Amino acid sequence: MADVEIPLPIVGQDVVKDAPLPEPWGVLLAHPNPDGSRKSCVNCMMWARTDQCAIHDPDLIIEADHICGYHVFGTPMEVMPTRPSIHDQPNIQYVDPDYSGLDSVPGGTSCDLCMYYEPIGENYEADGVEGGLCHQISALDENPPAPVGPLMCCAAWDDGSEPETLEPENPEPVETPPMPDSEGNPY
Ligand code: SF4
Ligand code: SF4
Repeated sequence: MADVEIPLPIVGQDVVKDAPLPEPWGVLLAHPNPDGSRKSCVNCMMWARTDQCAIHDPDLIIEADHICGYHVFGTPMEVMPTRPSIHDQPNIQYVDPDYSGLDSVPGGTSCDLCMYYEPIGENYEADGVEGGLCHQISALDENPPAPVGPLMCCAAWDDGSEPETLEPENPEPVETPPMPDSEGNPY
């Protein structure tokens, strides 16, 4: 049988052209903070006031006005709990800040501060969401734009500015006291 030369596709060529925009789950779209604030480490349950985050390397200084795509609204911790230290667990793999979207954004993030947001108005409502449209994601029927609210946010948030270069090392290791167990004894 004669050799037949099969042309290989150029990686990504047609895929990129035909790729639909992600649906809300593909960018971790989050509903508004219940207290009306914008998304920030200071209102994330994974942040500790020792300038650390439970899912990033503890040597990375992460301040109150930082934010990443994994934000979960909640009360931050005073110190990082030790049980033994959450950071000493052998199997933990920290989130890479280059992939988590970690950045400093004073004032926090929200759709209404994002370059992809189109405000429609208070009376606009679609799919149970009021406020505006996002041109970076598809609605649940796979057709963009997606309805979003002004204080929603997602991992694709972008205000169009250059991200800040973060301090790579925490100069002073932070001592954290052990977290007490249910009977008040330290682990
Ligand atoms: S870096 Fe992300 S996960 Fe960590 S505290 Fe901040 S918002 Fe939360
Ligand atoms: S407007 Fe921006 S932050 Fe809001 S869903 Fe769209 S890309 Fe995400």
